[in-house]
Amino acid sequence: MTSEAADIACAIDLDGWKPGLVQALWNDPDMHGVRTAIRSLASLLASLVERPEEVTLVVAIDLAEAVMRRDPSRPYTTDRGSGMVGGRTMQVDDGRIDVIFDANWLVALDENRRLIPNQAGIALMNRSITHEAQHVIMAQCGSDLTAYGRSKIPGFMNVHMFDAASNALDEHRAECGAIKLAGKKPPTRGDVEDVLGALGGQLSVVDAAYRTSRNAPQLAYGAMDACGSVWVAMAYWAAAHRTGDGITPLPAEITDSTLWHRYVGDTWDAIASAMCLVPVSDLATPPDVLHSVALTMSAALRESLNTIGFHYTDDETGSAFYVHRHDFPSA
Ligand SMILES: [Zn+2]
Repeated sequence: MTSEAADIACAIDLDGWKPGLVQALWNDPDMHGVRTAIRSLASLLASLVERPEEVTLVVAIDLAEAVMRRDPSRPYTTDRGSGMVGGRTMQVDDGRIDVIFDANWLVALDENRRLIPNQAGIALMNRSITHEAQHVIMAQCGSDLTAYGRSKIPGFMNVHMFDAASNALDEHRAECGAIKLAGKKPPTRGDVEDVLGALGGQLSVVDAAYRTSRNAPQLAYGAMDACGSVWVAMAYWAAAHRTGDGITPLPAEITDSTLWHRYVGDTWDAIASAMCLVPVSDLATPPDVLHSVALTMSAALRESLNTIGFHYTDDETGSAFYVHRHDFPSA
């Protein structure tokens, strides 16, 4: 790993870069464009957070590997049903916060196979930095994912659902903050169908695997993982439609679609209502408010899970997870 403070307030860590490439980045005239892009992303991040001296922009050759090295406790992939994840904000041991990005978005190869800046990818990274910076702000004011009070929740599946609810709410808050700075891009019918189609594809695989293996924990993880990606997408859709304390209805061309009827339907209203309970005018929401909204969101997501085709029980005898539908269309 190489760190460079340079003339900007956020440190830069070139994670997984070979020494020769690091040398070239800082010294080679041909790399001027890429160097400038990285420095300007670090400046943007520094300008958005409270204490930039505690934040590092990590430009990772392998995003999943960089994330798992910092938190080996659970597997991490950058696939999210439809589309890929471009960034991740993580607290690291020494109290610092790492904002990790996929270096591969930054560069393209020219006709002579030299690295040049990828302007479209850099524009996407600018938008992602603005979003990730909101997660940094929440962490710096003690109102991030660790503040929802999951230790107060009894029962294995209830905790799992509470985590999914907290995650969706946190993404909603971060995206609302990013929209204030960088504008919104409301979802189209195509965007929504991509997400719900990917859900159908993933759940078909999970359901088929369960029919052979009868492995219930694997069924629970597979279903919750696939649904979790959709709930995060919904958090973004809700952010793009949020006005103060309300969420304007999604256009009929989305809510009329077959996939929407199959997987979402009426559960959208409960999920959107729960989103509206979390304040987004600023990001310093107290933990007790986060906890209570996450309970409401857990109930809404449990309904959503039920509509999609799964349910669970969680009592003193333990947890059980069931699949009760086997139709998981992807188009
Ligand atoms: Zn986020």
